[in-house]
Amino acid sequence: MSIKDNLEQILNQLPAQVQLVAVSKTKSAATIQEAYDAGQRIFGENKIQEMVEKYDVLPKDIQWHMIGHVQTNKVKYMAEFVSLIHGVDSLKLLKEINKQAAKHNRTIPCLLQQYIAEEDTKFGLNADEIENILANEIKNLPNVKIVGLMGMATFTEDENQIRKEFSNLKSNFDRLKVYYNDLEILSMGMSGDYHLAIEEGSTMVRIGSAIFGVRG
Ligand SMILES: *Cc1c(COP(=O)(O)O)cnc(C)c1O
Repeated sequence: MSIKDNLEQILNQLPAQVQLVAVSKTKSAATIQEAYDAGQRIFGENKIQEMVEKYDVLPKDIQWHMIGHVQTNKVKYMAEFVSLIHGVDSLKLLKEINKQAAKHNRTIPCLLQQYIAEEDTKFGLNADEIENILANEIKNLPNVKIVGLMGMATFTEDENQIRKEFSNLKSNFDRLKVYYNDLEILSMGMSGDYHLAIEEGSTMVRIGSAIFGVRG
């Protein structure tokens, strides 16, 4: 199957309200160009340096999403062009994004990453921390806009477990949406679990290996 075929097959399975982020980390610019030529415009990277290098050489109408853990001292390299930061997992990071966005006269859309997995390797905020940022902090940060939440389920074969974690995230999202109208995006689901994520209410899936093949 070609990249084009894989993309078509996945897009055919996505409901209209679900956006596809093609996760292109570790893939070459030529490979990304292939997906671009098949019509894909949103790409996700997890390392800032790698994303900057690809941004420099690829078409400028690509929307680059930072999906990985972000180190505060590297925000400045992507502030000019990043179109969505998925993994905002601390107030300190949000403040730095605000500061760097201001230098470019931008408002950078961000998702707050909620910790939902049972593993302690995954980054994220808990529901109270998210609520605190939305209620008390965001008004002092005019150059960031929180447009939704992001989460990663536990890496397990247990579908009930994954479903439960996605469902928790969706509940918190729905609860907060009532008060914060800017919340529109619920980023959850990867190659292995995007069907479950969509059933549980995802509006944005981040899919890499099912499009580009397994990473070496
Ligand atoms: C790598 C990655 C993905 C995509 O994973 P696949 O299993 O290849 O689809 C999604 N989200 C995040 C945060 C990632 O780091």
